[in-house]
Order: sequence, then C-alpha cells, then structure tokens
Amino acid sequence: MSFSYWEHDSWFSNIDFTIVGSGITGLNCALELKTRYPKAKIVVLERGLLPNGASTKNAGFACFGSLSEILDDLEHHSEEEMVALVRKRMQGLDLLRENLGSENIDLQVNGGYELFTQNEGKLFDTCVSKMAKVNTLLNPIFGEDVFSITNNKFGFGKVQDNLIFNKFEGQLDTGKMMNALLQKVHAAGVKILNSVTVNGFVEGRDSVEVETEHFSFYTGNLLIATNGFAAQLGIPEVKPARAQVLITEPIPDLHIKGTFHLEKGYYYFRNINNRILLGGGRNLNIKGEETTELALTALIQQRLEGLLKNTILPGTPFRIERRWSGIMGVGEQKKPVIKKVSKNVFCGVRLGGMGVAIGSLVGKELADLID
Ligand SMILES: Cc1cc2nc3c(=O)[nH]c(=O)nc-3n(C[C@H](O)[C@H](O)[C@H](O)COP(=O)(O)OP(=O)(O)OC[C@H]3O[C@@H](n4cnc5c(N)ncnc54)[C@H](O)[C@@H]3O)c2cc1C
Repeated sequence: MSFSYWEHDSWFSNIDFTIVGSGITGLNCALELKTRYPKAKIVVLERGLLPNGASTKNAGFACFGSLSEILDDLEHHSEEEMVALVRKRMQGLDLLRENLGSENIDLQVNGGYELFTQNEGKLFDTCVSKMAKVNTLLNPIFGEDVFSITNNKFGFGKVQDNLIFNKFEGQLDTGKMMNALLQKVHAAGVKILNSVTVNGFVEGRDSVEVETEHFSFYTGNLLIATNGFAAQLGIPEVKPARAQVLITEPIPDLHIKGTFHLEKGYYYFRNINNRILLGGGRNLNIKGEETTELALTALIQQRLEGLLKNTILPGTPFRIERRWSGIMGVGEQKKPVIKKVSKNVFCGVRLGGMGVAIGSLVGKELADLID
C-alpha cells in the first residue's frame, strides 16, 4: 500500500506514540499521554471495526471481588497483597468516574450478591465464617462492613437460602462507557485508526518500525495494550480466556436488580433495561476456551440457558435476544503486566476479569512508563 504525500505527512510521519489496541487500557493510555505531552502526535491502531477484545463485550460490573473470590485470593496472596488488589480496583473505579462522569456511563450502585448452589453448602459456611475477618481487613478502604448476609428475596431456584450481599458493588452501561471514552480521546486530538492489525515491530536505535498487515511506519514509542492477544506480539505472560455471554429480551415486571455472582465468579448476571445479561461457564472447558477466536459453543450456551431457566428465572418465561463472546487476558497471577519490553516498547496487559475496574489505572500506569 502506498500513501499519498498528504496521507504520509498528516497520519504517518513524526509519530511520537503509537498505541496498539483501543480497549479501555489503550484509550486511557492515550488520554494520559496527551495530558502529559499536549503537542505529541499519538495514534491508536485497532484491528476491529469497533474495539474487538473485551472492553465493548463485558458485563459492566463495577466490582472489586465477591467474598469467595477474595477468600480465593487470600489462598495465593498475603493479606496485605489482597487489600492492595482491592484498593487498586477501587482507585481504578474512582478514576473511571472522574474521567467520564457517573451519568455518562450510567453508573448505579445497586449492590452485588453472591449465590451458592445447593452443592455449595460448605463453601457458603466457609464464606460466612470468614466474613467478619474480611470486613475488618477491608475496613481501611471502605470505612464500614462490605459484606453481609441477606435472604433469597429474588426467588432464585436451587440455591442456598441465604445470599451474601456487597453494598458497594455497582453496574454500568458498557456501551456508554466506551462511547464516552472514544469521544474524549477523539476530542483530545488522538487519531484512532480502525481495521489495522499490527503483525509485529522492529526496534531501531531511536524509533520502532511498526509492521501492519498492509503497510509499515516508524514511531518514537510503541505501547501495547492488546490484553488477551498480547502473546501474538511476543508477550508470553498472558493467555487468552474467552468468555461467552447472552442477553434476554425485555421481561415484564422483572424484579431482579443488581449484580450477581455464582460458582466463585465463574457465572455472573445482572439486570439491564428489564433484561437479564448472563455470562460465564468457562470452567466447563478451560482448555477449549483458551482461545482468541470470538465464537460460541453449544456446551456453554446450553448451561447458561439452563441456569436462566432453573436458577435465575424459575417459572418466568424468557427469550434469548443475543449471544456474543469476548476475550480476556489471564495468567498465573492476577496482577496486570505493566512493563518496558525493550528500549522504546512498553506493554500494559493481563487485566483478568476486572478490567472495567482497573483498566483506567493500567492505561495511566502504562503511560507513566515513558520517562
Ligand atoms: C464477556 C466478558 C465479561 C466481562 N465482564 C467484566 C465485568 O463485568 N467487569 C469487569 O471489570 N471486567 C469484565 N471483563 C473484563 C474486562 O472487559 C477487560 O479486563 C477489559 O476490557 C480489558 O481491557 P483492555 O483494553 O486491556 O483489553 P481489550 O478490551 O481486549 O482491548 C484490546 C484491543 O486490542 C485489539 N488488538 C488486539 N490485537 C491487536 C493487533 N495485533 N493489532 C491491532 N489491534 C489489536 C483488540 O481488538 C482489542 O480491541 C469482562 C470481559 C469479558 C470478555
């Protein structure tokens, strides 16, 4: 592909920063760089027509961990590390609100609930017995108890009689969030080029040659924010993890309001516009879902439908309107990988299942790597 003089001059010459990936991380990185270097020429390259990883496909939970997830974290991290993880998620949510405004992303703090299946009596008892301890550990962040026990007021089927309630958990409109973020980045003067896939890069002495499917160009610095796809650009610490979702048609008099977690976070659902959005089931085929292919499987979709019918909406007729999948980036540890890859190449990836919470912060910290 050969560019005209004008195209080359305006779009592809003297670029200071090129960001790969226009998800929540890449866009926040662009904003932070523009704030710090107002005169810099910044380009974001995105392989999709829209962002095509996780940021426009997620469930919109503004969450920092259910009680069983936090107890799970405590198995692999010290108490201090667990508190630091939760603090970071809350700081990320504060930054998201500050950047975009609660109204623009339709942020509602309706609370979050954890359900336990009939087979999870032991897990429920463990959670209850350790709840006071976790509340004490989190008190410096929230100033009051986070978790409490509540009854099954939503009439869920085939679950324990009681649920665990988290009064600080919220939900937002993912589409509105990404729209607001894209508008802000455009308004700041950053160029976003869609349908451009980066295949690789070559580090030079003072610049980086970026190789895309159809053309190459030079940039001062390259910042990789491709999360679940990071291994394709030589970052081995991240594995892709596909997550499948469905949404019902509107349900008259839907009485379910809030965000809900089931089976240690492997399933999650919420209300949105009188519908139920439900996702999860990766645990049914962990190896098979370790893929960057955006597709659906009958195994997981059938399980999701079964949950809707028997647990979430027993006795209530519903129809499925839409199904989709997205790709997360996961690894051995929950901490994101924010690092210098080589002299002028940097990455901010592996956001796991809580990128809505930490994405703004990871984007900012990725930009902070530039000195
Ligand atoms: C179904 C689902 C539900 C989720 N629910 C929640 C939730 O409720 N709450 C929560 O906090 N988190 C949730 N998450 C996780 C959250 O969405 C992610 O952690 C977050 O969006 C990651 O943002 P990111 O910008 O780092 O990555 P992404 O949004 O994946 O962005 C990376 C971008 O890079 C692009 N890209 C990849 N490779 C290339 C290349 N070579 N060249 C050009 N472009 C490329 C991709 O197309 C993509 O747009 C969910 C994720 C999924 C999939």
